[in-house]
Amino acid sequence: MTKHRSLSDYAARRFRFAGNALLEFSDPFFAQIDKLKKEMESAGKHFVSFANYDYLGLANHPRIIAEAKRELDTLGVGALASRLVGGERSTHKAFEAEIAKFLGFESALTLVSGYLANVSTISWLMGKRDAIIIDELAHNSIVAGTDASDAEVIKFRHNDLEHLEHILHKRREEFRHVLVVAEGIYSMDGDTADLPRLLDIKEKHQVWLLLDEAHSLGVLGATGRGLAEHQGVDPSRIDLVVGTMSKTLASCGGYVCGRKQVIEWFRYTLPGFVYSVGLSPVILTSARTALKLMQEDESWRIGKLARNAEFFRDTAHAAGLSTGPAIGRGVVPILFQDSVETMWASQHLLEQGFYVPPIVQIGVPKDQPRLRFFISANHTEDEIRGVIAALKNMPPVSEEAHRIVAAAMA
Ligand code: PMP
Repeated sequence: MTKHRSLSDYAARRFRFAGNALLEFSDPFFAQIDKLKKEMESAGKHFVSFANYDYLGLANHPRIIAEAKRELDTLGVGALASRLVGGERSTHKAFEAEIAKFLGFESALTLVSGYLANVSTISWLMGKRDAIIIDELAHNSIVAGTDASDAEVIKFRHNDLEHLEHILHKRREEFRHVLVVAEGIYSMDGDTADLPRLLDIKEKHQVWLLLDEAHSLGVLGATGRGLAEHQGVDPSRIDLVVGTMSKTLASCGGYVCGRKQVIEWFRYTLPGFVYSVGLSPVILTSARTALKLMQEDESWRIGKLARNAEFFRDTAHAAGLSTGPAIGRGVVPILFQDSVETMWASQHLLEQGFYVPPIVQIGVPKDQPRLRFFISANHTEDEIRGVIAALKNMPPVSEEAHRIVAAAMA
């Protein structure tokens, strides 16, 4: 007779295989950063986070907080229904018009997260007899979108556009529509796609392109408009841009930008929009204020972030550390030999007042663990020098750490 496991047993086994043994050595995840910061600062130490993608350092900006409070006092927190049937607030329309204009698109639509924007857009757009071609390092929300679609899914080697072209050359005619998905900045490696070449390939093979700019808004381009600005191409050649308000805009929620006709169709049909609540007006007003600050009074933050990230990358290289293919913008990883060394480094940094959780086993290939640094315009050169020096002077991984992990994995 088959043994039917309880759900808890099943979960415990799955979690073990997912690598939780490492946690027996140290658990850097789910740190209560507000508490930790308070504790360290009251002990006279500093607490510097490199774990939050507050790229322009706007998270606690007084103007954003003031605008959010004003909106909270007038409208409350909830959107209280799907906008299609519950109505919307003026801030919904205003943000969508502002972000579309800023990025050079005709229209935009917001959803409750960037994750949902990818899942819903990709799975709604593509169906039977279609193909979705994605970079092998695509973010999980893109993969989840392809999983939820009836289209055939094909992967090309990371940033290898020759491979993409080869796939299209061989297989384009088998499919009705083809959607290629790439990212402005890859979230684990901090590198970018070659957009001019990608657009040439897209136009030659008559396929559609969705570009995920989650990590590049406010980060790439002299005015923060993302990869198209950074690489000097006309953004209107891209069919769809998906983005998020959770990073540079220091808020929450996602958006999809495109041509008016496409976005109008989505407004009435996109499942993740139609069957989900509208964004909180407070959250949207915060994002709008951040977008305005970034374009007007505090646009200097964009250049400061670029200088900080390049300084981080160059200081890491001078210390003999590897940052992989990162171009030196918002995301810069430091690569380690194995998961234990990565956990060790993270723990060592925390003891020195630097919060950088390890990326091991989840989100990256098992043999490519790393510390992922999110650089912010608010970091100082001293903080960057400090964290790199702490890594350079890190003691070797103890026998004890290796023993604990080996025993837990056995
Ligand atoms: N796309 C990419 C490339 C991401 O890294 C993320 C989240 N980190 C998302 C989409 C999802 O965005 P959100 O967190 O707003 O759901």
